[in-house]
Amino acid sequence: MAKKYVYFFGPGKADGTSEMKNLLGGKGANLAEMCNLGLPVPAGFTVTTDCCTDYFANKSKFPAGMMDQVKTALTKVENVMGMKFGDPKNPLLVAGRSGARMSMPGMMETVLNIGLSSKTVPALIAKTGNARFVYDSYRRLMMMYSDVVMEKAEGIEPKDDKGIRHQLEEIMKEVKQKKGVELDTDLSADDLKQLCELFKERIKKAMGKEFPDDPMKQLEGSIGAVFKSWNGKRAIAYRNIENIPHTWGTAVNIQAMVFGNMGDTSATGVAFTRNPANGENKFFGEYLVNAQGEDVVAGIRTPWPINEMTKNEHTAHLPSLQKKMPKLYTQLDAIKNKLEKHYKNMQDLEFTIQEGRLWMLQTRDGKRTGLAAVNMAMDMLAEKLIDTETAILRVKPAQLDEFLHPIIDPNAEKNASLIGKGLPAGPGGAFGKIVFTSDDAVEWAKRGEKVLLVRDETNPEDIAGMRAAEGILTARGGMTSHAALVARSWGKCCIVGAADFKIDFSKNEVIVKGKSFKEGHIFTLNGTKGTVYDGQLQMIDATENPRLKAFLKLIDKYKSMKVRANADTPEDAARARNFGAEGIGLFRTEHMFLSDGHDEPKAYMVQMILADNEKERRAALDKLFPFMKKDIKETMKAMSGYPVTIRLLDPPLHEVLPSRDDTREKLAGMINIPAEEIKKRAALLHEVNPMLGHRGVRLGITFPELTEMQIRAILESAAELKKENIKAIPEIMVPVTCDEREIKDHKLIYDRVLAEVIKKYSLKGLECMYGTMIEIPRACLLSHQMAETAEFFSFGTNDLTQMSFGFSRDDIGSFLSEYLERKILTEDPFQTIDQSGVGQLVQCSCVRGRSVNPKLKLGVCGEHGGDPDSIAFFYKVGLNYVSCSPFRVPIARLAVAHAEIDAKKAPAKKAPAKKVPAKKATAKKPAKKKPVTKKAAKKKK
Ligand code: PEP
Ligand code: MG
Repeated sequence: MAKKYVYFFGPGKADGTSEMKNLLGGKGANLAEMCNLGLPVPAGFTVTTDCCTDYFANKSKFPAGMMDQVKTALTKVENVMGMKFGDPKNPLLVAGRSGARMSMPGMMETVLNIGLSSKTVPALIAKTGNARFVYDSYRRLMMMYSDVVMEKAEGIEPKDDKGIRHQLEEIMKEVKQKKGVELDTDLSADDLKQLCELFKERIKKAMGKEFPDDPMKQLEGSIGAVFKSWNGKRAIAYRNIENIPHTWGTAVNIQAMVFGNMGDTSATGVAFTRNPANGENKFFGEYLVNAQGEDVVAGIRTPWPINEMTKNEHTAHLPSLQKKMPKLYTQLDAIKNKLEKHYKNMQDLEFTIQEGRLWMLQTRDGKRTGLAAVNMAMDMLAEKLIDTETAILRVKPAQLDEFLHPIIDPNAEKNASLIGKGLPAGPGGAFGKIVFTSDDAVEWAKRGEKVLLVRDETNPEDIAGMRAAEGILTARGGMTSHAALVARSWGKCCIVGAADFKIDFSKNEVIVKGKSFKEGHIFTLNGTKGTVYDGQLQMIDATENPRLKAFLKLIDKYKSMKVRANADTPEDAARARNFGAEGIGLFRTEHMFLSDGHDEPKAYMVQMILADNEKERRAALDKLFPFMKKDIKETMKAMSGYPVTIRLLDPPLHEVLPSRDDTREKLAGMINIPAEEIKKRAALLHEVNPMLGHRGVRLGITFPELTEMQIRAILESAAELKKENIKAIPEIMVPVTCDEREIKDHKLIYDRVLAEVIKKYSLKGLECMYGTMIEIPRACLLSHQMAETAEFFSFGTNDLTQMSFGFSRDDIGSFLSEYLERKILTEDPFQTIDQSGVGQLVQCSCVRGRSVNPKLKLGVCGEHGGDPDSIAFFYKVGLNYVSCSPFRVPIARLAVAHAEIDAKKAPAKKAPAKKVPAKKATAKKPAKKKPVTKKAAKKKK
């Protein structure tokens, strides 16, 4: 039997259902479903996606028998609608629209008014008595058909946008000019009639063939052209971005035309079953009388509100559908209730009223803001329309971001003047007066001004200004640059890598594409999008929403992968707890020396760096010790009962030395050495490539006493808290390791200090773990060796991405946009884990590490730990936790819940465990036991 390529739909009856999206596309499946629900849908048929793929496989020819199926379905449509396609008395017109499995808005083609010809035009005029409407429809058909079918589908690409549509538009302009009118609607029936003749002539001249006068030819041409638009440039680009397979193909929906522009009893509109902006359970929509669909969305005429209850100050004076056509409104309202109950989701509807009769043209799940998503999910749960898991899945993790920071009012943003763009490094929105130095930011903020700090890039000495500013904008840097990391950890709005912004410090101004903006000028930043606007835009704050709190309660039980926070202060730890973090995955010890207000420990650190021998170094470290211990102890206290991963010092030493004259002078004074000496030493320590230089574990290899001091500070803090009956669970983490011997080297220090601390505090044992960061590809490959000593791994995916791609994490801003635009990369690998490369290294490391230590604890503390797509991947490879900035904790928790629910629904999706090739990997070693007892610690010593 021939394949079924064509599925009929009509009032009360359809061949398809909403379950058949793969075959009928989203639009076709929902049209069928609406028919099955008995709703008034203009009859039509869907030519399947399968037919589209067969068409391409068949050198762009329709498969055998397909047009026969089309004709049979068309007859059914004619019978239902009481009109005949191509008939010289009572002609039926149809629309041809694309419809893929997933919505690809505006990416493919549409042809309307198919069926108008030299015979049907007079018939339709006679039938409607409305010549203007008929000629207007005819000229629209010619414009669309010549453009979509005769030009684009034929692969003709005219130069300089001089395509046929443009040519016809020019003719129309001339006709309007001659008549002295501005609007299309000012053209009379005769004008349009004349225009249609001009169009026909031009099409023949430009395309070398006539516009087809045979309705069946028009229909055939339109179906083929919509198929071909699947492979149009726009559609291909969109699929690349959205990761939609190119093999799917599109369906074509041929549907009887209904007209909302047939006079005052006709109308057209779009509506949402609930408010898509705030989730309010009120029928919300817009319509226009005597109009076509595109008039409502095009913004040429101000649309009218659908009902009285959703009117606002701007629309109060406009007539609602409820008042103007009360019976039809009641019918539409009942349909809305039926559809929402049926789909159990907010629907986005399109309808047309033709001469007093209501027709439904589309329904689909409606897009919504984060606020609306949470409110609708909670409301629908309370209404028992959906269950808890569905409610959780209804909110996209990234949508929670809207609640956690002030954001720009989307309405204000629509009309704002865009100055430039950068990478979206820190969330939310912020406005303020621009300043170009950290000191100015602090000073201006002190006198009550809101400021934005605009810099080429930031470094640790800018911390005070960054804190004081409402937002940060840097011309250089990538998503893991200093500005980005710091801003995100504070939840501060930040844009980096905005290469068009050239600061001229001598003139206190920034020049963007030739335009100058002086210090004090107000900008508004959208850190979620990376856009910079001129002037001050309205903000909205949604943080304290009780619905959000209730929603977060729903996800409490999804904890198979934990969420921790990257936090360096007791305040951050407390905030992270508040957001539901279950531990700290990364405490960067150096932040205590590098951030503002820590002059004393910083001075001792400088003294340690300048020391000439171990004795002098130890003396400086002894002074540093109490500061280190205090911060760590307070943070562990704030995280009592949860693990705190403390990383040993990571940055290259010269970064700790102050580069600004005034700070240098101040610190030099505190430790009694000439400032010049610090400057000299900094120059000596300068490295060509510090990211690959003397940093991380390498510092401890050359200065073991530095490692010893840090480990002692951590373990003594834990011991003291234990004495105070506060549960501290430290995890000591060695950064930037590439070889098991580095880990073993430091383990000796760890074991010795642990035994000493246990003895000092007369304890029986002390709960603690010893592990490493995995952030070098070599470490991933040799994880079976690293795991012999390390009790846990934490993937430092910032450095791992840098070292795998060979892209500098601080300089990627200078070329990333080009890479993204040209699709060499589909996303910023510092933001979303590159599963095919870096992800493979992570997975390999997990498998190899666990092959020698099945209990090996695995986590991630790079920026990817807060990215929902990356979290789904980490869940699949079996990490125990992800760690991210405190402000991203709720987002990460929701992403974990989604991953868990998705896995439950499709268990086979879990990433398969790979075989471990290395011989050594199979050598089993028993897992380390915790806590280490006093006896055991002694023995190791
Ligand atoms: C990392 O490299 O992923 C990491 C967390 O460490 P840092 O960003 O401090 O280098
Ligand atoms: Mg790192």
